[in-house]
Parts: sequence; structure tokens; C-alpha cells
Amino acid sequence: MKSQSRASNRNTHDVIVIGGGSAGYAAARTARDAGADVAIVDQGPLGGLCILRGCMPTKAILRSAEIAALLRRAKEFGLSPVSAQADLSAIVDRKDRLVREFAEYRIEQLQDPTFTLYQSQAVFLSPHEITVGDTILSAGSFILATGSRPCEFPIPGLDRAGYFTSDTILDLRTQPSSLIVLGGGAVALELGQFFARIGTKVTILQRGCTLLSEMDDDVGRSLEAALRAEGLEILTDAQLLRVTHDSRGKTVWVVQDGRERSYAGEEILQALGRQPNIEELRLDLAGVEIVGGRIVIDGAMRTSQAHIYAVGDVNDVTPIVNLAIQQGEIAAYNATHHGRPSKELDHRLDAEVVFTDPQVAVLGMNEARAKADKIPYIKASYPFADHGKALCLGESQGFVKLLAAPQNGEILGAQLVGPEAGELIHELIAVMYYHGTAADVMRIPHYHPTLAEIVTYPAESIVERLGV
Ligand SMILES: Cc1cc2nc3c(=O)[nH]c(=O)nc-3n(C[C@H](O)[C@H](O)[C@H](O)COP(=O)(O)OP(=O)(O)OC[C@H]3O[C@@H](n4cnc5c(N)ncnc54)[C@H](O)[C@@H]3O)c2cc1C
Repeated sequence: MKSQSRASNRNTHDVIVIGGGSAGYAAARTARDAGADVAIVDQGPLGGLCILRGCMPTKAILRSAEIAALLRRAKEFGLSPVSAQADLSAIVDRKDRLVREFAEYRIEQLQDPTFTLYQSQAVFLSPHEITVGDTILSAGSFILATGSRPCEFPIPGLDRAGYFTSDTILDLRTQPSSLIVLGGGAVALELGQFFARIGTKVTILQRGCTLLSEMDDDVGRSLEAALRAEGLEILTDAQLLRVTHDSRGKTVWVVQDGRERSYAGEEILQALGRQPNIEELRLDLAGVEIVGGRIVIDGAMRTSQAHIYAVGDVNDVTPIVNLAIQQGEIAAYNATHHGRPSKELDHRLDAEVVFTDPQVAVLGMNEARAKADKIPYIKASYPFADHGKALCLGESQGFVKLLAAPQNGEILGAQLVGPEAGELIHELIAVMYYHGTAADVMRIPHYHPTLAEIVTYPAESIVERLGV
């Protein structure tokens, strides 16, 4: 299927994937495996957000903070108290080492000779042509996977005061004495707790009424209680007004309940979200429709131009890696199987994990969505504080909540706050994958004593109420 003509710097491919991160690589691999001649265009640095500035570096540094927090609890477990003094520079060295290894592997994958890799920025010239450096490329299908960047938020004075984002704070080697975190989403909370645990005074200023405000209120409130107990200062429902700075540090001014308050700190982490990387692609020349800063896509990942797909963070649907990968695979399948029914993403099993301690894991339907969409459900919760294994581990914060269909007990969703929630959720994903019921969760053998057993208790109360 290869039809390249290098003359006059013009090449043609079956499928061109723009962006070689998690979504783009998954798309390229899938299209190649379907027999297409695939080019990947990436302006670099190669590796993608997940490896370079997202999932992996954050999880690497969180591990250091988790160990520091446990060491500080030595006495509680009958051990001599330990002083866990953090060395941020050494933590960053360890993170950099791991990231380098992960990135090298991804770069090898991108440089595989079964792809043509162009290391350059891609800019559309027309719906079927892009420029990459001094070469014009055309293709039957394009898959946009250019990811996202921290959003620019117009808070008066913030730019002048200076601030970190998750992209830049991961390289900070001198620990600030205090940090004001703007935002109460996953990135804000993971990084906020990290700095608090290594000894920085952390204040979280959140616009929503609860932390993780897109999740059910009980999830945000439970995590908030745990973080407060650890010493983080948290203000919710805080509208950001302005930022001032002087030689002593930075001050963030907010209004809450009609009252103006100020919070001073040495540094600011702006974690108010990310925005898709679309401006430089010249999607106007490709005829791709954008509404409110977002590329319009359908369930098959197609944009308003049927041969151009958008996957991963660039479409701003679900900025989560496993979903970015699925989207890439679906787009690539559709781009290489013309005339067959399109594949579409099934959002039923969408899950999200927040790697705070306690962790948060949510899956499928939540109460807020069920109520908004008038979907009937029954629910049952069980606290980790009543669970034997959690008590043995000294990890008693949080709960497990299951939502089930009232007619047959099919599990519709789950919310967990607690130890290893990000691991425990996978049993429920498997149950939901097979359309399993609360009765199934109750009957599946669970080893004792394990954290995993906890899901059987809310399942049992749902079964009792259903009378099945
Ligand atoms: C701090 C943080 C922690 C996170 N933790 C998690 C987590 O624990 N679990 C999870 O599931 N998700 C997590 N995420 C989200 C996850 O990292 C992203 O959803 C995912 O990496 C997005 O992948 P992508 O392929 O869409 O984009 P990217 O990986 O960003 O890839 C985009 C690629 O496009 C290239 N590019 C951009 N513009 C152009 C252009 N014009 N021409 C050519 N190339 C271009 C870039 O160089 C880049 O390589 C986290 C995110 C952050 C910020």
C-alpha cells in the first residue's frame, strides 16, 4: 500500500497520525496492523504527556511522599520513630531516571521502521494536505492526537507574580516552604498532597463546592476530610479574584460567601485544567469544525470532516490514558475499514483514578448523573473504617459505594475512596464489563482478609433490598 514519491518533497500515506503520545501511538499501531502505510508526525519532545509530564512522573514522586508519610507513622505500628527528611532534588533525580527509561522505549516504538516518522510540527494546508517542515504530506485519513497543555487562566496579577503548572513543577528541585494550589481536581490534589507530605505548607483553593467537583459530593468530602487531617488547608467555593506579589512571596485573593480573603505563599501551582493543542494545526484550512474551543467529534471519533479523526486530550472528552488509547484504536480501525460499520467508544465503563492517599476511583454511573438523567438506581455504601483488613493496615479512611439497577441489581457504577482504590476498582470494571449484578459481586469468592472483600458488603445490602 506504500505510495511514496520523495520528488519535490511531497509524500503520500494512507493514514497520517499527528502526535505520537498515548493516543497517537495506539492509532498508528492499529492502522499499521490493519495493513495501512502509516506516518506519524510529532514535533517533539518525543514520549507524550503520560510519560514525560503526566501519569508516570507524578506517580514516581508520589511514591516518595507515600513512603515519607508511612515512616512518620512508625510509632503507631510499634516501631521507633523515624525522621523522614525529603530531598526534593533526589526525588526528581529518581523520577527523571524512570521517565528517561519509559521515554526511550516509546521513542523506539515510534522509530519502528514499519512507520514513517516525521519529527516536525504539522500544519494543515487543505483538508487532505499538511506541511511538515519543507515537505507536503497528503493522506486518505488523518488522526489528530496533538494532546493538551495547561490552560491559561485570566486571573489578574497571576502572570506577573509567576506560577508553576504541572508541566513545570515536576522539575522543581528547591522545595518551597509554602505552596498555594489553584484548583481541586486530580492534578491539583496529587501534587498538593505530594508537597504537603515532603514538608511544604499547602493551601488548596477550589472553585467548586467540593474537591473533585465532577464526582459525587461524598467522594470529594471524604477526600477533603482525609487531606485536612494531614494538615492541608482547603478552601472550597472560592472564587479567585487576583494575585499580588512582593519580596516576601505571593498572595492569592479570593471571595467566599461574599467575604474577601487572602492566602499567602512562596509559590503558586496553577492546576485549573488543560486545553487542547489545536491552534497551530490550522484546522480552519482543513475545514474541521470547532465549537467553544473544542473539536466537534462523533462517537466514531470523526470530526466534521469524515476523513479526519481526533483522539486523546485534543478532543477534550476524557483526558485519561486508557481512554485515549481506546479512542486511538477506534479511530484507526474506522480509518482503515471503509464500508464496514464504524466502531464507537462505549462510555459505560469509563473510570477515573486519583492517586491521592486515600485514592479515589470512580466507574460508570454516579449519583449526580443518574439523578440528572432520571435513571433509577439503588445504592449501598460501606466504610473502610469497618473493614478488618483496612484496620490491620491502619488505612481506615473512605468508603465503597455501589450503584445498581433496581430491577435486577446490575452494577451501574461504583465510587471508592480508600486504600488501593485504583486497584480495587478493576474487579468492578470486570463485573460491569460482563453486565454482572450485585449478586455476582457477593457470590464471587474473595480471599480473606483482603481489601478486595470490601466490595461484597455493599453488594450484599443491595441484594437484601432487592430480595433476589
Ligand atoms: C500531571 C498529570 C498527571 C496525569 N496522570 C494521569 C494518570 O495517572 N492516569 C491517566 O489515565 N491520565 C493521567 N493524565 C492524563 C494523561 O497524561 C493524558 O490524558 C494523556 O497522556 C494524553 O495523551 P495524548 O496522546 O492525547 O496526548 P500527548 O501524550 O500529549 O501527545 C501529544 C503529542 O502531540 C505532539 N504535538 C502537539 N502538537 C503538534 C503539532 N502541531 N504537530 C506535531 N506534533 C504535535 C506532542 O509533541 C506530543 O508528543 C495526567 C495528566 C497530567 C497533566
